[in-house]
Amino acid sequence: MRITSIDCHVLLQPAFDITAASSAQDDIVVEIHTDEGLTGIGETDVNPWIAKACIEAPGSHNMGVGLSELLVGLDPMDVEGLWDQMYVSTAMNGRRGAVINAIGALDIALHDLRGKALGVPCYELLGGAAHEGITPYASLQPHTNSYEEYRDSLIEWALRAIALGFHAVKAEITLAGPFAHTGMREPWERSTEVLAGVRKAVGPDTQLLVDVQYAFPDADTALGVLKTWEEFDLYFVETPLWPDDLDGYRRLTNEQPIRIAAGEWLTTRFEHLDLMDRAGVQVIQPDIGRVGGLTEAKRVCTLAAERGLTIVPHLWKTGISVAAAAHLAAATPNCAFIEYLPAELTESGLRRDLADDNMKLVDGKVTLPDGPGLGIEINRDALEYYEAVANEAYQP
Ligand SMILES: [Mg+2]
Repeated sequence: MRITSIDCHVLLQPAFDITAASSAQDDIVVEIHTDEGLTGIGETDVNPWIAKACIEAPGSHNMGVGLSELLVGLDPMDVEGLWDQMYVSTAMNGRRGAVINAIGALDIALHDLRGKALGVPCYELLGGAAHEGITPYASLQPHTNSYEEYRDSLIEWALRAIALGFHAVKAEITLAGPFAHTGMREPWERSTEVLAGVRKAVGPDTQLLVDVQYAFPDADTALGVLKTWEEFDLYFVETPLWPDDLDGYRRLTNEQPIRIAAGEWLTTRFEHLDLMDRAGVQVIQPDIGRVGGLTEAKRVCTLAAERGLTIVPHLWKTGISVAAAAHLAAATPNCAFIEYLPAELTESGLRRDLADDNMKLVDGKVTLPDGPGLGIEINRDALEYYEAVANEAYQP
């Protein structure tokens, strides 16, 4: 089998809000076609026009080869070998950042393709099932413009998540810091008040996770606030500090008891090693597309397992990424949860419409995906619709 062509689809949600702290408003979907009629599908969570350029740009020397040019004509079955070849051949432009994010979309598509060619689900080729089912948590981020509305909606959404069968919910409490949702700027007491409201509403038996999206300016401020959050019995606090402040993270993991989670923006196992070994973060959150795809995500999971650390993959995209995360989680013994949002709990039409993840939530767990490859189908009408929106917004 040979790769014949690669299509990159840039998608955009109509009336996207540039002040919203949500990357579910855009997408890039890649399709890798072959001479045997099989097609692999992938996506990644980065500016989609940038990712498309990373894939389609021609190379100009042997340290900066074009990704599409490199892959067309090759046998897609040696997925891990192709990852290493893409990484080395783009090294001058890549190694980290957007090029790795783009490689991630291609790698997911290659895993999908290999699973389809062999007629087995991806998780079988990632090491086989390590769990009976996968425990999802619902990420809750209502789109509102005022603190009061945000607090009330978050509590209402948490209750809806529990009614849908979730045993774990994550409150996105982004009322301050560089990525405060829709420009809100609230004192820390307000974040504590929201958290208290959510904990009271969900009761003591629901696992409660919190994401503050880099809100604390420094470790001292974070330590002061986290001390007041101990009573809420949190599973983790996600990305409290700027990702480059590894020494600050080390202080948080040493000087207070709540688990710290991070890793959503990092590319490659090498950046995750800094998080594990220098920052001492306890919960590692590779985003499968951004880290470089399933191949690199699996390597991160193995390094975390060697250190006794927990994996909870980050996910803020469509059913394609949900499926990729489910396959990774299924094959990863040290994976505690996946981030998962059923259609009922997302503001993003793009995310709802593009691909059905085919997963059912029963008793707080989702079943393992069992179709060949990722086991999902793209809704072609939705793809065309959101692609037309993107084309209208910007034509390079
Ligand atoms: Mg996050």
